[in-house]
Amino acid sequence: MNAQLAKYAAKLAATGLCAPGDVLMAALDDELAWSAEHDPRQPLMESVFAGLNISALLLARPAGVYQAVMAELVRQALADGGGTGQGSITPGDCETRTFLHDLPVVDSLTADGIIQALRQRKGCVVLHEGEALVAAFGTVSPEQAYVTMSSMCFACFVAYFADHLRTLRAGAMTDQRRASFARIKALLPEDRGDIDGLPDLLPGPFDSEDAARAAIIQAGRHTVEYGLVDSYFGNISYRLPATGQGTGSETILISQTGSSLDELGPCIDPCRMDDGSCAGITASSEYSAHKAVYEAEMASDSAGAGARAMLHGHPRFSVIVSLDCERLDCPKLGECHRACDTPRAVSDNASGLSIPIVPGEVGTGPFGLCNTLPPALADTTGDATGHGRGAIVYGHGLFTLGAVDFRDAFQALMDVEHFCRAEYFRRVAQLDAG
Ligand SMILES: [Zn+2]
Repeated sequence: MNAQLAKYAAKLAATGLCAPGDVLMAALDDELAWSAEHDPRQPLMESVFAGLNISALLLARPAGVYQAVMAELVRQALADGGGTGQGSITPGDCETRTFLHDLPVVDSLTADGIIQALRQRKGCVVLHEGEALVAAFGTVSPEQAYVTMSSMCFACFVAYFADHLRTLRAGAMTDQRRASFARIKALLPEDRGDIDGLPDLLPGPFDSEDAARAAIIQAGRHTVEYGLVDSYFGNISYRLPATGQGTGSETILISQTGSSLDELGPCIDPCRMDDGSCAGITASSEYSAHKAVYEAEMASDSAGAGARAMLHGHPRFSVIVSLDCERLDCPKLGECHRACDTPRAVSDNASGLSIPIVPGEVGTGPFGLCNTLPPALADTTGDATGHGRGAIVYGHGLFTLGAVDFRDAFQALMDVEHFCRAEYFRRVAQLDAG
């Protein structure tokens, strides 16, 4: 157990979410096991454990830009709470909506405060000596606490930058917020689109299941490594041609729901396209969307070809830009993620890249991704060279297509995020100029 805890603690450090040593994890074995021994935070965490029915607990001090945005958001939330010492951060992204709901904040580092907050939600943000700390738990495994921490960092990052743009649009920017923003912007990691080329991905087409699996595993690992998704969110699929005689159906290989994209290994399900039974079991919760996209691809291409690869990530600035809308008085406000009917896109005139932004909920309902995503992707042609087919789902993430392998899908994921990051700061500069 100690080794498993140390692994997740190291993973948080490796992804830049906190510095090594700034996270302590505990899990209930025969007795409490720790990611590190002789830590002064142990008595506090033991008290929290005693007050909750949980199996794992994490206490971490987020690093860098995550520390800065969380500290800012927790201060704002406590100010909005009007001196009650309580409040919550309410990000508008899909991970928060479906997974976290909102993030309770606590104004001091006490076991009681944390216990109360964690009775409501999977994780909370604590303001302690001017800094933000995260407490999160797992009911069955330390992995759950890790996923919550990672998702909270993502959600707060998106919430902070989206709020800043919204405040500018509302004409409510203050000097204090402007100064914080400059300080936080300086903490951003370098834009990887500036420094990295495309990773060395396997060339397709793949006509065996083994070859396609190897390509999926490799693309998944790089998607996480390049920061285009946090490991437990996002998914990947490949449409394999029908083989042999008489089988007739193509097969979609897709990552399993809740699997870690950088460690897919066996967590890839084969789903025959003529069999609807795959979706309910372990395949990604977005399987129905992948399947519908491939069906549209096959129908639109007279040769029956169409895209064979699809990548889905939650690149931060693509999500942030999708949340930005000029229509502050729109009657659909608050329902954008499902009911927005305004055609929207981010467009790069220089390259010809145009990426639609569409609503869509996870699942198969009337506003489900399987209904909104296929027509959006079918309409995309990519840039002037035909590369870069993709669509952004409002507040959620980016889906990109590859003709025969993951190289063009990955390039599109990188290009769109690179463009959205520049586009975000262009909009901020433009709105703040007046
Ligand atoms: Zn997603």
